[in-house]
Amino acid sequence: MKVVVLGAGIGGLSIACRLSSLGHDVILIEKNNYTGGKAGVVKFNGYTFDAGPSLFTYPEWLDDVFVSCNKNPRDYYTYKKLDLVTRYFFNDKSYFDVFDDVNKTAKSIENVANFSSSKFIKLIKPLGISVPTF
Ligand SMILES: Cc1cc2nc3c(=O)[nH]c(=O)nc-3n(C[C@H](O)[C@H](O)[C@H](O)COP(=O)(O)OP(=O)(O)OC[C@H]3O[C@@H](n4cnc5c(N)ncnc54)[C@H](O)[C@@H]3O)c2cc1C
Repeated sequence: MKVVVLGAGIGGLSIACRLSSLGHDVILIEKNNYTGGKAGVVKFNGYTFDAGPSLFTYPEWLDDVFVSCNKNPRDYYTYKKLDLVTRYFFNDKSYFDVFDDVNKTAKSIENVANFSSSKFIKLIKPLGISVPTF
């Protein structure tokens, strides 16, 4: 079947790969002259900044795209777990850190906001945020 996918963000790229691996004739159309959509980068003064995501929330889902296309993700990329994952800065120069360890993240949020770490843990627990093991 001929399929047209509009937009080469993470979503469009993923579905285009899956449909193509199922044997469909896929045309992927992107209005920008780069792929990735919101997951892009901005280059400035010799530095490269993430334009969108800084936290890889569900890495197993990216693996799933490769596996569903009969590819071994480890032949293409690997993950390196970081203790300090990302740091968010605010205009008043305050910041908070996101760690691999959710309890450390909760403590870090407590330092910048009037939000107890136990409240934060209670809030995110139902989301079932998992830490992948590679
Ligand atoms: C500032 C910011 C921070 C974020 N941080 C995180 C994070 O830390 N962790 C995380 O997991 N997620 C994060 N996200 C969310 C994540 O970036 C998005 O969920 C994801 O990139 C969306 O992918 P998508 O393919 O659905 O959409 P998009 O990336 O928006 O892709 C849509 C594509 O379609 C193209 N398009 C639109 N209209 C047309 C058209 N008419 N014709 C052709 N092409 C078209 C666009 O140019 C674009 O390339 C963040 C997003 C932002 C903006």
